[in-house]
Amino acid sequence: MNAEVLAVGAHPDDVEVGIGALVHKLTTAGCATAILDLTRGEMGSRGSAEERKVEADDSADVLGVTTRLNTDLPDGGVANTAEQRRPIIEAIRRIRPRVLFLPMSDDRHPDHHAAHRLVRDAAYFAGLIRIETDAPPHRPERIYFYRVYGEDAMPQMIVNVDKHFEAKMAALRCFRSQFHNPEYDGPETFIATREFLESIRTRAAWFGNRIGAAYGEALYVDGPISVDLPPGLERTP
Ligand SMILES: [Zn+2]
Repeated sequence: MNAEVLAVGAHPDDVEVGIGALVHKLTTAGCATAILDLTRGEMGSRGSAEERKVEADDSADVLGVTTRLNTDLPDGGVANTAEQRRPIIEAIRRIRPRVLFLPMSDDRHPDHHAAHRLVRDAAYFAGLIRIETDAPPHRPERIYFYRVYGEDAMPQMIVNVDKHFEAKMAALRCFRSQFHNPEYDGPETFIATREFLESIRTRAAWFGNRIGAAYGEALYVDGPISVDLPPGLERTP
């Protein structure tokens, strides 16, 4: 159950849209990575919660993720409350990740924006002894943020995902009810258009271009990053 990395999304497929290729890169390198979806996506115009569970599990297989949890918070009602923090604290203490990946704030979807603050605070409270759960306290060492949708301010980090971008697209295709899929019978939504799926590729290509790669995924942090020496000048002792 323990994993070095925990990637959290408000809805099943958020992690894939934001950092699916990075997750695949991590698991391919042997890094145990878990995903926590906060809601089941039951407010979505297409696909039932049951369908989306099967899709999410299929995608986890493609990405090499062994543990995918769901806290069953209300889709469309994610809020930073003690009640909603509680199951997230429990999940963090069970998984015990060193590193957390969360949605960035100021996203146009209110759940993504709320998830940012909710999970940040839950990660802090997960370290407090006075909050009692079955598993002992644990606080992740680092938190990085990714964007699901929304304006892409220039990120502090871009990960080269050249060898992992197609795995991300394969993972996204597992969400048969959500993204462009001529074989699925449902109302046309913004993210179900061919253009939306193509925009994911365009965005990754744009970020890749910024670092001399074919594809990149963007990460954001709060505050400065501590380094021993500037990247490119590291020395092994
Ligand atoms: Zn979402």
